[in-house]
This record gives sequence, C-alpha cells and structure tokens, in this order.
Amino acid sequence: MRAQPTASHYINGEYIDDESGAPLESRYPATGEVIATLNVATHATINAAVAAARRGFKVWSATPPAERGQVLLRAAQILREKNRELSELETLDTGKPLQETLVADAASGADCLDYFGGLTRTLTGEHIDLGGSFAYTRREPLGVVAAIGAWNYPIQIACWKAAPALACGNSVVFKPSELTPLSALKLAEALSEAGLPEGVFNVIQGLGETGAHLVSHPDVAKVSLTGSVPTGIRVAEAAAKTLKHVTLELGGKSPLIIFDDADVENAVSAAINANFYSTGQICSNGTRVFVQKGIKDAFLKRLAERTALARLGDPLDEETHIGPLVSESQMDKVLSYMKLGAEEGARLVCGGGRAEVQGFAEGLFVEPTVFADVADHMRIAREEIFGPVMCVLDFDTEDEAVARANATEFGLAAGVFTGNLARGHRVVAALHAGTCWINTYNLTPIEMPFGGYKHSGFGRENGHAAIEHYSQIKSVYVELGNVESAY
Ligand code: NDP
Repeated sequence: MRAQPTASHYINGEYIDDESGAPLESRYPATGEVIATLNVATHATINAAVAAARRGFKVWSATPPAERGQVLLRAAQILREKNRELSELETLDTGKPLQETLVADAASGADCLDYFGGLTRTLTGEHIDLGGSFAYTRREPLGVVAAIGAWNYPIQIACWKAAPALACGNSVVFKPSELTPLSALKLAEALSEAGLPEGVFNVIQGLGETGAHLVSHPDVAKVSLTGSVPTGIRVAEAAAKTLKHVTLELGGKSPLIIFDDADVENAVSAAINANFYSTGQICSNGTRVFVQKGIKDAFLKRLAERTALARLGDPLDEETHIGPLVSESQMDKVLSYMKLGAEEGARLVCGGGRAEVQGFAEGLFVEPTVFADVADHMRIAREEIFGPVMCVLDFDTEDEAVARANATEFGLAAGVFTGNLARGHRVVAALHAGTCWINTYNLTPIEMPFGGYKHSGFGRENGHAAIEHYSQIKSVYVELGNVESAY
C-alpha cells in the first residue's frame, strides 16, 4: 500500500523536494507498512517557506475580504468532493477507522473553511463618536502564521488553523506531525485549486526541531500549536523571545460527571465516545468518569456489555469501530498505563492489554479498557494517557464531584450528565474547563469556540472567538477641527 505524495513540501504554490533533508517515513499503523517516504525540511527549506509566506501575505492581506471568503468556500467544496479519497489517506496515515475519517476529518475541515469563508465579509471595525472628532478601528491580519499540528486529526487541525488565519488575511506555514505528514499537502493542493495565491499556504515536513526553527523565525508573527503540554511550554518560551502571538491547544484529563438522575444508556454512550473514539487519541476526552454511587453498578454493567460489542479490525473496513494506535511508542505508552492501573489497585472491568486482530499481526491494536474504583491520587487518573483507557471514579455529592473534577492542572473540557438541567448549568459554571457539555460529550461544531483553561492552553479555535486570535485592531483617531497647541 503506497500513498507517496508528489513531493515532501508545498511552498509558493508548488510541490518541492529537498533531498538533503533526513528521510521521514509514514507507516500504516494497522500493518507497519511504509506508505510514503519524505524528507525533513532543512533550515534552507523552512526559510524558503517563510519567505514565500511573506510574499504571499502582501498579496493576500490586500485581497478584499469577500474574495478571500470565496476562495475558502471553494476549497471547502473541493474537500467535500474528495472526501472519500482524503478519508482513506487519513486512515492510512493515522490508522483511524474509515467509519470515523469519512465523517470527522476532512468533513470537519470543510465545515471550518465554510464557516470562516462566510465570516470574511463580516470582519469589520467600529466607529467611535468623540464629539467634534471620531475614531474608528480596523481589523488587520498579523502576518505570517506558523501552525504546528498533532497527529490525531491531521487535516482537521490544519483546517482549524488555516481557515481563521486565511480569513483574516494572514499567510500560513503549516508543519504537520512527523507521524502524519500526508493530508496537509492535500489541503494545500485544494486551496491552490480554489484560487489561493502562491505562498499564502505552505506545508513543510519535519520533527520537533523543524517546528522549533519555525517558531523562532523572526519573520513569523504568530504561532498556533496543537500538541502536548511540555511542547506548549517550549513553544511559548521560544515565542516569547520575539514576542510572537501564541495560541496553544494542549492536552487534557477531562472529567465526565454522571449523576444518579442521568439516563444510563445516554451516559454510557457518551462515556464510550469520550474514551474510545479515535482509539482514545482525542485531547478533549472525558477520561475521568465520575459516577454517583446510586447509578454506579448499573452504569458499569451496561458499559462492560456495550464495550464488548466494539469491533476492532481492519481500519479500511467501514464496519470497524476501533483501529490501531498511531505508533509503536504510543502503544507502548498506553500499555504501560494499563499495567500501571492494575499495580495501583484499580479494578479492571474490561480490556487491559494488546489486542490480537486476525490478519494484522503487526497492527498496533490495544483493547478498549475500563478501570473502576479508581482513586484521585492514582497516576492513571492524573496523567494524560491518550489511548482507550477509561477511569471510573465514584462520588457522593455534587460539591465533592466538582472539587475533585477541578483538582487537575488541565482544563480543556468537561461534561455533566443529569436529568436536572438547573444542576447541569450550575455544575458547568463551577468547572474549570474551556469547553463543557451537558448531556452529551465531545461534540465540537465549528460555530462553538474550542480551547483550554489552565495548562490545557490559551487562545481559541473555531467560532467568532478565533478571529480575535488571528487579527489585531488598529485604532485611528480622525480630527475634524483645528489642532490646538500651547505655543
Ligand atoms: P507533541 O507535543 O509531541 O507534538 C505536537 C507538534 O509539535 C508536532 O508537530 C511536533 O513535531 C511539534 N513539536 C515538538 N516539539 C516542538 C518544539 N520544540 N517546537 C515546535 N514544535 C514542536 O504532541 P503529539 O503530536 O504527540 O500530540 C498529542 C498531544 O496533542 C496530546 O497531548 C493531546 O492532548 C494534544 N492535542 C491537543 C488538542 C487540542 O486541541 N487541545 C487536539 C489534539 C491533540 P513532531 O511530532 O513531528 O516531532
């Protein structure tokens, strides 16, 4: 199986290779096969991408907003037309089942391009009456945006960063994760086909060092990272040296609180989605499931019964629910947490190890795993695992649940299940998390801002809020009378 792109990088509207860069292989996690071999961008290639983006910025920032919007809308249409091809590519690159990639990856990217394409015409400033004179504001772009992605939603992350950046008139240099380099190149192709001028959206391949060079580049005005907390800290430190704008979408250990009066089947569905979708590799996952004691037994019984129905298997088979993890090191990490859970004294309800999938001996599959009787101090309840490992903790009162849910350095997301809507609103108001759900989990429509509190990051993606993070306000004072001076 091969998914070799035309070349490694996309700069100034065309594919570029730079064979002096170290080789970079993309593997299909279900079989271990190498599906593409690319090259890491050298410093010369990174600098060329930033230079192209600077030139692209001059053209794009002067393009009328309505025209910018038309390009984004056309690109959204192209992604939709190519959804199956793009979904298959994403499945090969990430191992996520086609059942998911068909609806959640390029499709979400297209929604985002649509949303921000529609918004460009509304990007206005304000008029401020000052009596004899007035002021107005202009909403202006920042310049070259360095966007750096994680491997779990490659094309979605590229779109979530590119669409608001481009809508505001910025240009972009995007670096995908080294594990999933392919789909961002397809986005670049789609944007060019839609009429985006040369140099406005560029893709370079590489590892952390490539991202670091990009972040420290003096011609980059803004950095937007999706990644782990340690990488976020390094990026914020590096960006501070040249006072760049920064958006950080980082990790989480989010709580999902289920009260006695919740609908059990809906709560179980949400807990499954919040832990096993994308093989658990989702930043906002509700991995600490707090269940009130009165409903605990019924919840765990149905959870075990329904988790047993999950079909692990060939990711390209649309009947498959759960695919492999993205890489061997990620699998080793997840397996080590499964072992740790048992050592720490949590009760294994189901799963707990590597999964055998017929025909995929080399596949990086693990079992969807549930631990019950988890205590707050256990490492499986405190650290981000980023795999299909659910921790179920029980509680007595609402105040207790809120206090324990908030006792974490993370603050990306949270969910509440209850039949009492007043309690639902009261509890989410008390939770320290950037994105909350009442009686559902992990739905992230483009209209709704998304981002973290505390160590889960700052800045917002999606919604009108994202515009604030990809533009700046210029204030203009206009004098209509004479200018007075003391002498
Ligand atoms: P990493 O933090 O390892 O990497 C993220 C990106 O940053 C990669 O492209 C990586 O390159 C790059 N990078 C690494 N070091 C540096 C550096 N010093 N300077 C600039 N760039 C650098 O995260 P993962 O890719 O492993 O993704 C998983 C993490 O992402 C989890 O913590 C998850 O919670 C988080 N995440 C957050 C989301 C959110 O929206 N809040 C959504 C999805 C994931 P490379 O990997 O190629 O070396």
